[in-house]
Amino acid sequence: DIITGVSSGLLISIIAGFFLAGRAWLPIRNAWDKQQQFVADASHELRTPVSIIRAQTELLLRHPNHSIERESDNIAVILKESRHMGKLLEDLLTLARSDSNQLELHCSLFSLDAMLLDLTKQFQLLAVIKEIEIHVTIQETMWLLGDESRIRQLFVILLDNALKYTPSNGIIEVAVRASLHHVSVSVSDTGIGIAKDELPYLFDSFYRGDKSRSRIDGGTGLGLSIAKWIVDAHGGTIRVESKPDTGTRFEIQLPRKNKASL
Ligand code: ADP
Repeated sequence: DIITGVSSGLLISIIAGFFLAGRAWLPIRNAWDKQQQFVADASHELRTPVSIIRAQTELLLRHPNHSIERESDNIAVILKESRHMGKLLEDLLTLARSDSNQLELHCSLFSLDAMLLDLTKQFQLLAVIKEIEIHVTIQETMWLLGDESRIRQLFVILLDNALKYTPSNGIIEVAVRASLHHVSVSVSDTGIGIAKDELPYLFDSFYRGDKSRSRIDGGTGLGLSIAKWIVDAHGGTIRVESKPDTGTRFEIQLPRKNKASL
């Protein structure tokens, strides 16, 4: 009986040991699985432009005596796909570096309102072509301590999406509000919106909504993952609310450091 008791006790501790060891390995396995998935998705995304470029080039080589004018449509496809690939590689590099903490923030004090006014002015030029209005509301001059070029990249991603997913005659609104410790910026549009069941996956790498024509419009499915990384790295939060066929609103909250406090 004693021997049975001891051996069953031993068996239980061995099973418990394996269980605990298994649990300890779980985060590492999850991280490994995530990495594997990321590599698989990245390869899949790169395969499409590479195949298109190869096929178009083979087509060109079949008719060496054709003039550039005659083949200009095919050449334009090659150019578009190589641009897409360049953007994809750039985004992949940003995410890979941010994942392994190799990306540093170069923080300085900058005027958020000046940056947003400058950026929205540039986007106005593109919006006019789509007959979309961009409205900007800024409460006051706002200084922010952060990486200016990353914060700019964040709003480029959000404005670019707003423009991409809003049909003609729509409106995009950028509103900046400040409280004592935070500054919040919202980017809203009157676009196609996002279904409720898609919202939890929005910030995942390579996620593209059902209705988005992202691939056709040159999207990589990485924009919002990069946006989330930038916000997280600044100790802020990003939230999204959306209604299909009505519009989408992203709200970013960043910790504020005003000039006087430094
Ligand atoms: P991309 O736009 O390159 O596909 P993102 O990561 O920037 O990648 O966005 C992921 C998905 O989120 C998009 O494919 C689209 O379905 C959805 N999305 C993002 N912003 C908006 C928006 N303003 N309106 C509607 N859908 C959006």
